[in-house]
Amino acid sequence: MKSILDKLDLYPEEMGAGTGTWIKCKGEILNAVTPITGQTIAKIHCADKEDYNFIAEKSLEAFQAWRQVPAPKRGEIVRQMGNALRENKEALGALITLEVGKIRAEGEGEIQEMIDMADFAVGQSRMLYGMTMQSERPRHRMYEQWLPLGPVGVITAFNFPAAVWAWNAMPALIAGDTVIWKPSSKAPLTAIAVMKILWRVLRENDIPDGILNLVVGNRDHVGEPLVNDVRVPLISATGSVAMGKNISRAVASRLGKTILELGGNNGIIVTENADMDIALRAIVFGAVGTAGQRCTTTRRIIVHEKVFDELSNALFKAYQQIKIGDPLLPETIMGPLIDREAVKNMQDALNDVKKQGGVILYGGQTLAGKGYESGTYVTPCICEARANMPIVSQETFAPVLYLIRYKTLSEAIDYHNAVPQGLSSAIFTRDLHEAETFLGQSGSDCGIANVNIGTSGAEIGGAFGGEKDTGGGREAGSDSWKAYMRRQTCTINWSKELPLAQGIRFDVD
Ligand code: NAD
Repeated sequence: MKSILDKLDLYPEEMGAGTGTWIKCKGEILNAVTPITGQTIAKIHCADKEDYNFIAEKSLEAFQAWRQVPAPKRGEIVRQMGNALRENKEALGALITLEVGKIRAEGEGEIQEMIDMADFAVGQSRMLYGMTMQSERPRHRMYEQWLPLGPVGVITAFNFPAAVWAWNAMPALIAGDTVIWKPSSKAPLTAIAVMKILWRVLRENDIPDGILNLVVGNRDHVGEPLVNDVRVPLISATGSVAMGKNISRAVASRLGKTILELGGNNGIIVTENADMDIALRAIVFGAVGTAGQRCTTTRRIIVHEKVFDELSNALFKAYQQIKIGDPLLPETIMGPLIDREAVKNMQDALNDVKKQGGVILYGGQTLAGKGYESGTYVTPCICEARANMPIVSQETFAPVLYLIRYKTLSEAIDYHNAVPQGLSSAIFTRDLHEAETFLGQSGSDCGIANVNIGTSGAEIGGAFGGEKDTGGGREAGSDSWKAYMRRQTCTINWSKELPLAQGIRFDVD
């Protein structure tokens, strides 16, 4: 543990807020705890309201200068940030493993996502394109341009303590915005380590403080002041649906903008024409990866009745092979849940499954004994369920997989779309008609729809996000950068007349 912290210049006590330089925080002390053993890794001094206010003021001040820097030059700084992350990929990946319990490969994968986002943003910095339009008036030119927006508040969830910030921060930086990051109080150390690395890059380029800001703190002192702050025109929030609803109301009441990336309840339809081998591998990765704590975790398998037994038997065999334990060890496939509360939520959900007529087919135990003293380790669980069981509509943030039988594809799609969330979805089939039906107007209602690929593990090049209770936000690739800029329509009259639009005459002699 110490060697991971040493490599990243982390100390047993850290400040939780800064603008490029740490400030002496006056808020409460937060214990950063590893779910691997339940031990405290470091103590974090949190920000209070006054500290938050200082950070917000500084980021607004820095925005005035940063927005003047040409976008490709901002991209050059982001390029250097990507390289700094490359140099620290292994150490940061290990810290994520330590802090939130995902296995090493997934921890490093998260840093790779940050690097990919940096690379993507560098290219985008030369492509902040606006359109030109044909004016209806003679000798007039019309075009739209994209301008920097202001400080962007980025609120992140515990389960992606680094990548989600990069999905937002990298495009925000090239857009000319400054960033105020409020990480989850369950994962503050990763955020602190990332800031230490990236602030160095800013300092090496003589960029003044206030561009990248961090503020760890509780809801009263930091969360609410941030979402209610009129200095922050955009709040990008990742987390539970309940959090999104609260934040959305607060930001809307001041007519601010939001990007909401909320819970998922992702389903895979496995048809009788599926390649069972790849379907199986995708389901196991999607359901068990990150111990079922991804927004894109596969939670529901809607499987054709003819192949139900074949698939469930193959899943049992695969689940028996899953090595559960210390995620720092290379042989481990599944680490712990984030805390004991998450374990309790899982057990409560499994009780509901039984009460509602479902059957637990495999797993679901809380592990005890040597190596499992923290009480955060569980066996992944497979249940047989019906689509109309209320528990199936909820996102239980744990490795609980529901198997639901179907007879016709339209029934399968109805089951699939019957949940409130709409993040990621997939179909496994070699039949073109089935695949295209799933992708068509009456198919999947999710923001992400895959064919012969599971629900988790999206590439950064696409716009990431979901519909319905998932919040409607889009982040990462494609044209997501537009959310971090303001659009301005410009019309230039180079004639010597003043013709009005729609041919209106308004002559005064
Ligand atoms: P959470 O909702 O408990 O917390 C998320 C963040 O919101 C934290 O930083 C928290 O401190 C903050 N927060 C909560 N209430 C707030 C308020 N009123 N004002 C300001 N900030 C507030 O979620 P979690 O347990 O950390 O993460 C798990 C959830 O996140 C799951 O539902 C998961 O699906 C979702 N998630 C979604 C995506 C996505 O891209 N759609 C990605 C990762 C996680």
